[in-house]
Amino acid sequence: MAFTEFRPLDDKSLLEYIKATPSLSSKIGNKFDDLTIKEVGDGNLNFVYIVVGTSGSFVIKQALPYVRCIGESWPMTKERAYFEALALKEHGKLCPDHVPEVYHFDRTMSLIGMRYLEPPHIILRKGLIAGIKYPLLAEHMSEFMAKTLFYTSLLYRTTTEHKRNVAEFCGNVELCRLTEQVVFSDPYKVSKFNHWTSPYLDRDAEAVREDNTLKLEVAGLKSMFCERAQALIHGDLHTGSVMVTPNSTQVIDPEFAFYGPMGFDIGAFVGNLILAFFAQDGHAAEGNDRKVCLCIFLSSLCFHSLFLFSSYWV
Ligand code: ADP
Ligand code: MG
Repeated sequence: MAFTEFRPLDDKSLLEYIKATPSLSSKIGNKFDDLTIKEVGDGNLNFVYIVVGTSGSFVIKQALPYVRCIGESWPMTKERAYFEALALKEHGKLCPDHVPEVYHFDRTMSLIGMRYLEPPHIILRKGLIAGIKYPLLAEHMSEFMAKTLFYTSLLYRTTTEHKRNVAEFCGNVELCRLTEQVVFSDPYKVSKFNHWTSPYLDRDAEAVREDNTLKLEVAGLKSMFCERAQALIHGDLHTGSVMVTPNSTQVIDPEFAFYGPMGFDIGAFVGNLILAFFAQDGHAAEGNDRKVCLCIFLSSLCFHSLFLFSSYWV
């Protein structure tokens, strides 16, 4: 079976694809008999298959030309896989300890083959909800942000390199537009995809819509997001884009990557931790209010990031 034009894969055609692709089949020692292929499907946008054999494993991620969790009624370019692969490789070069290695990329098929982050890796958001402590997370995330942001900015790169890369990532316009819409516009007005716990939060949602001071501030942030090509940012750095064990921290899913303001990544991550902090009351058990951990974590994150960032400068 030839894969010369795009088609969505399923478990069966994926097996054919792997057999026809040496960079993938070699990862499992060319043994196909006892291979397990499982679509994990908890993502919002794409299809993710975990492929495990007796001699190795990998993950296949394929982008389809629409938003998975909405369906074909919300078209979305499958070229996002190209920008995700590009960012994974660039971030992986700068910070190999915290980014899964890319084994294979097929632009025609919008498909990435990468390292399988095997259990006990779980999505950080799930770990935080479960109240698991991650003593190395602050250090690891600081290293990831400091390295990827500093070394892709003009603090390190030449103007020529920087402009070339900015131009390349301008192609990720559809994903940028999606962020502009769902982060900087929709929450502040009546919009089709907004939802909240109604009727309990109706008044809060209305208060946001009617707060002109807030809307002016957000318009300023939106302008920075659109206009400030400062560094290659991940673009979606929430706790659902980080997989962890107590010893390992891996940043996945940079399909929204482009040259934007560093503060967007840093703010998204810290903002998600603050959300997790306030959600703890709902998850905490008696005798374990969990609050101390997050406070220590936040301050240690700020300290590590500042320290690392300034150390690259000298
Ligand atoms: P989407 O872009 O659709 O949001 P993600 O990249 O977030 O997709 O992946 C969806 C899910 O697939 C993740 O939440 C995670 O559970 C799993 N996953 C993705 N990449 C890997 C990986 N390299 N190793 C193990 N699991 C992964
Ligand atoms: Mg995603």
